[in-house]
Amino acid sequence: MSGNKKSASRLFVISGPSGVGKGTVVQELLRLRADLVISVSYTSRRPRADEVDGVNYYFIDRPDFEARIARDEFLEYAQVHRNYYGTSRAKVQELLASGKNVLFEVDVQGGVNLKKKFADLRSIFVLPPSEEELVKRMQTRGSETPETMGIRLATMRQELALADNYDYQIMNEDLNACIGALNKIIDAEIKGK
Ligand code: 5GP
Repeated sequence: MSGNKKSASRLFVISGPSGVGKGTVVQELLRLRADLVISVSYTSRRPRADEVDGVNYYFIDRPDFEARIARDEFLEYAQVHRNYYGTSRAKVQELLASGKNVLFEVDVQGGVNLKKKFADLRSIFVLPPSEEELVKRMQTRGSETPETMGIRLATMRQELALADNYDYQIMNEDLNACIGALNKIIDAEIKGK
């Protein structure tokens, strides 16, 4: 799994700022495509009301996360918005063994680090129609305090500045159009293998 080896599965990474709708887009994509599986990350963030352990994330506490870092259990990990997020080596190995195509939903640091591990990884960045729209969506979700909202906005500006480094950029103005465009990219990449 290390180095720049080619694997039988196609690998895709999706990044984009908080509130851009990545979660919904990814869930729809997984519903549409039986050939695609998602890498479920570990996080030290607390679960939101509608999140399920083992589905959205594996929720663990900071000491547990740091012990796993020390044991080198993560293919990549990053601190985002003051919480840890990481991709488990063992889980990814299981997904690759299934022969399916694997989707990673990680931040831009994760995107860069995964690209170093997998040379044939394709990267897709989901852009918001505007910063105002993004703020509105975050407010609607209601899961942020003024403090965490401020942190997320600062991260968003940094992330948008790195969108050009991705192979593809898709604007999520209309959800169905965005999912359709992503699906087409994945089809084209799989066929072009
Ligand atoms: P959220 O707290 O909104 O679920 O996620 C915050 C950010 O962490 C998002 O940009 C998400 O893509 C990113 N993220 C989720 N899992 C991982 C991971 O395993 N590694 C990295 N580097 N980022 C992750």
